[in-house]
Amino acid sequence: MSSDTKTLTQLCAEVAAGTVTARSRVEMYLANIAQRDGAIHAFNEVHSDAARARADAIDADVAAGKNPGPLAGAVIAMKDNIVMREGRTTCSSKMLANYRSPFDATVVTRLYAAGAIVIGKTNLDEFAMGSSTENSAFGVTKNPWDLTRVAGGSSGGSAAAVAAKFCDAALGSDTGGSIRQPAALCGCVGFKPTYGRVSRYGLVAFGSSLDQIGPFARTIADATLVYDTLCGLDPHDSTCADMPVVTLADKVHLPLKQLRVGVPREYRSSDNAPSVAAVLEQAIVAARAMGAEIVDVDLPLTPLGISIYYVIAPAEASSNLARFDGIRYGHRATLAPGDDLETLYCKSRAEGFGPEVQRRIMLGTYVLSSGYYDAYYKRALQVRRLIKDEFDRAFTKCDVILGVTSPVPAFEIGGKKDPLSMYLCDVYTVNTNIAGIPGISFNGGFADEGGVKLPVGLQLQAPAFAEETLLRAASMFERALA
Ligand code: GLN
Repeated sequence: MSSDTKTLTQLCAEVAAGTVTARSRVEMYLANIAQRDGAIHAFNEVHSDAARARADAIDADVAAGKNPGPLAGAVIAMKDNIVMREGRTTCSSKMLANYRSPFDATVVTRLYAAGAIVIGKTNLDEFAMGSSTENSAFGVTKNPWDLTRVAGGSSGGSAAAVAAKFCDAALGSDTGGSIRQPAALCGCVGFKPTYGRVSRYGLVAFGSSLDQIGPFARTIADATLVYDTLCGLDPHDSTCADMPVVTLADKVHLPLKQLRVGVPREYRSSDNAPSVAAVLEQAIVAARAMGAEIVDVDLPLTPLGISIYYVIAPAEASSNLARFDGIRYGHRATLAPGDDLETLYCKSRAEGFGPEVQRRIMLGTYVLSSGYYDAYYKRALQVRRLIKDEFDRAFTKCDVILGVTSPVPAFEIGGKKDPLSMYLCDVYTVNTNIAGIPGISFNGGFADEGGVKLPVGLQLQAPAFAEETLLRAASMFERALA
């Protein structure tokens, strides 16, 4: 078996057994990065020395007879809005261009404890606001399938790093689709767990009631292995759920009997690109062939998700980003004679934040201001409840919901000029966050866009904390569509 066809579980077992060194795995990925990341720009920063040192420490542990853990020698890329003591955490913003965290995020600590190696920090849309990674202050990430196209966003760097084989897996954050949409556009797996399943401690907050960390990988099984190590209660995050942690890596390949797959008519919208719609229809045929029952379900509030999201997420962002004022954190403008403190705040924030982040802060401040709060924010929260109820009703009829992740395959860099057309990329992903349920994107097939072969992602959604059903169902689709 070539290393390409081995699962991450097998590769880590080889490292733990001492038949392959963690160091050789790091060197292989560093060589891939050296060869191709100049063109792709998945990374903001590659931690070559730290990764080598950690690999050597793992190999020394193995030589001394110690078990480094289930992720022994797994090479992971980290979205650059997840803090690490190593290197900088920039959120791809000028505001934090030189920020160094005094602590590691809980997910980082957990990966280390499981024997993983972090190889570097990946590019994103500034503060995770965007769907194309074009909003990064440090340059666009290119899609490994076609360098003239976007990798999706906001975790475009993590998706591209996995697709380009710069690492075994990566972490991202998903507030409205930022793991699943770039995974779809880059042809890899991207998994957003239930809200509260994974600690957010050390994730730079965007929309705190929506944010969730999750893995990217090349297969469902690999994503599951990484996910297993991330879960569990964390006293540092009060929204982290106190749920029993069960490992799923050893169960993910088990087929589900009598699987009911809901297909909402709203997900078969005529707005989907024909190539994307075709992949969904093929998946429905494949689902029937694997013995699943296809159930019609209704999610009529689907189109309202974007409007609700663009009230709630900016409202929370405007409050979360208030701390970046040039005094406590972040870029500080040069003072001119006569400038007062308020001028310093204004100048620092105007210089440090890019246009999309400024737009979100203004939107959020507006919808929270007295007089508009009831009309926008409160109303959005009410519709949020209705969207959640709608999913609850749908899940009485089915176990998982199937659709496409993105209405279009990867688009050209610079191709979406106005913010609204970018926001519409997330029409199928935002409601997952609004309802707090888990969602996964995996490759469903390919589109031919003028002779260019581009991956098309399928999304499965499941009830809150039904990750086992979700991952096992996704694994069935992965096999059926291979
Ligand atoms: N694309 C969405 C936005 O721009 C979602 C981003 C995310 O999930 N972080 O807000």
